[in-house]
Amino acid sequence: MRYLILSDIHANATALQAALEAAKGRWDKVLCLGDVVGYGPDPNEVIDKVRELGATTIRGNHDKAGSGIANADDFNPVARNVALWTRNQLRPENRTWLEELPTGPATVDGFSLVHGAHRDEDEYVFAPAQALDGLLDAPSPITFFGHTHLQGGFTLRDNKVGVLHFKPGDGAPFSTLTIEPGTTYLLNPGSVGQPRDGDPRAAFAIADLPNNSVEFWRVPYDIEAVQKRMAAAGLPEPLINRLLFGR
Ligand code: ZN
Repeated sequence: MRYLILSDIHANATALQAALEAAKGRWDKVLCLGDVVGYGPDPNEVIDKVRELGATTIRGNHDKAGSGIANADDFNPVARNVALWTRNQLRPENRTWLEELPTGPATVDGFSLVHGAHRDEDEYVFAPAQALDGLLDAPSPITFFGHTHLQGGFTLRDNKVGVLHFKPGDGAPFSTLTIEPGTTYLLNPGSVGQPRDGDPRAAFAIADLPNNSVEFWRVPYDIEAVQKRMAAAGLPEPLINRLLFGR
């Protein structure tokens, strides 16, 4: 079974479309690690697509705020503004779908999915020290997580934490990680719709776990088209600008 793993799409339909085109024919099932909405201009289009794909999806913090099941009080003013905008845009059936998204962790075929971390869906795992608890507590050798919008991850082997970085070059759209026995993995596919690792291309992963291979992909998309829709919708300028820089 090959899994297409999407996270932090953030209502960016153009980035999602580019990811799906690049991944076409390479997966059997779609998994989504949350933050389907928030920040971007296309909440209904993105939810429609994720539903159409039949993706196994867990919720992220922006899904809670966008649907209204959590207030956005702990968001910065820019994110809060868009959470409220998103709430007003959502068609009723999409709002219900968002409200009913399950909380992680989820287990799929022997590996785990979380939005932020195992013990707290809203926790950010940026650094090895933050990853250690999750690596020790993980109920399975492989966990996929999102929330930080940074493609990469962490490993635990012989009581040592390792850091994984991937930099697919222009010639190769993906880097391949080979899963090794005796190692625990926390793997972040990166953000489809709002990357923050300095690479503005849409990020995702394809895991072929029976064959112990995980591909970390980057694909370009029409950022300007998304920025124009954001401007037309009156979304905050810092969010429009950051897409171009991948920060
Ligand atoms: Zn996010």
